[in-house]
Amino acid sequence: MSRGAVMIECLYYAKTTPIITVDDWKPRLEDRFQDESEANLSGAPECIFCEIVSGKAEASIVFRDEQVTVFMDIHPVNPGHLLVVPNEHASGIDDVPEAVCARMFIVGRQMARALRRSGLRCEGVNLYLADGAAAGQDVFHSHLHVIPRFRGNPGSLGLQADFSVVASRDELEVQAEAIRNSFDAAGDVV
Ligand code: 5GP
Ligand code: ZN
Repeated sequence: MSRGAVMIECLYYAKTTPIITVDDWKPRLEDRFQDESEANLSGAPECIFCEIVSGKAEASIVFRDEQVTVFMDIHPVNPGHLLVVPNEHASGIDDVPEAVCARMFIVGRQMARALRRSGLRCEGVNLYLADGAAAGQDVFHSHLHVIPRFRGNPGSLGLQADFSVVASRDELEVQAEAIRNSFDAAGDVV
């Protein structure tokens, strides 16, 4: 997308969407950690993202390399919602080594491109990272959300996932396959 088109998209959202706070955006995941003190900081099995990275817990993996793993979010804001996580456990973004942090954002950018080419509905993308309980972080293994957005969705922080809905493994696998295929074809995730 050209810089002009990005500007127009930004202006479109600025004009058509109300200002919504992060608290409005997302209900708490009551069954997860309430704050950092309850989080597992060692990469032990209680960390669901460590379990996914190690293959002990089920997930629809889209991409992985030595530094990061990308998988489908189980409570997607929209179909195609991805999480980019460091392979080594790190609670907050400040605990992630700089090179791995850079890789998270480089891969996040590539996932945004893949989503736009995947055939899944994707008219815009939010890259979102909650760092700390006060910022809305629920799972204390740092992660970058890559979220397809549609015209008419609530404003950029008004993502409004419905946490009562759990996506089925079958539909997540179909979406993961579409995204994998699009970046394979583009040849830009190495
Ligand atoms: P946060 O609120 O910390 O920014 O985001 C945590 C995200 O992790 C949420 O969007 C939530 O849906 C997702 N999540 C929580 N548990 C699981 C799980 O077991 N599997 C997957 N794939 N995603 C999860
Ligand atoms: Zn972890």
